Amino acid sequence: MIIVSACLAGVECRYNGQAFPISTVIEMVKKGQAIPLCPEILGNLSIPRPSAEQCDGKILSNDGHDVTSEYVTGAKIALGIAQLVGCKKAILKSKSPTCGCGMIYDGTFSGKMIAGEGIFSKMLKEENIKVYTENEIQQCI
Ligand code: SF4
Repeated sequence: MIIVSACLAGVECRYNGQAFPISTVIEMVKKGQAIPLCPEILGNLSIPRPSAEQCDGKILSNDGHDVTSEYVTGAKIALGIAQLVGCKKAILKSKSPTCGCGMIYDGTFSGKMIAGEGIFSKMLKEENIKVYTENEIQQCI
């Protein structure tokens, strides 16, 4: 089973209240090949919500709050679901502090990217679950 970021499946759960729909991902969900999850919503964060970035081991929102606890809680719940369904691969939204894979924003809210992992992506990789971004779908399927 493949886990996908819910926003890629058309769910309007991003910080700005919008989705980031990818037709291939939506088709995978419709065919029962993939399960959509949004760790941030599982962490009881609201829609919409302030954008957030990783900074010095914490996750900070752009209005200055430390939201690390909510983000970690949601990622842990999502990881538990991924393990429950026997997930071996995931397609996650790039650049997100939660779902990003390989590159994330640098914590300055200036649009700059650095090498790094979203916290959910990192947890999946630590469990030997392969993570792909929406730009790498062909390598996943
Ligand atoms: Fe999409 Fe992941 Fe952000 Fe949820 S946490 S909106 S699934 S990128």
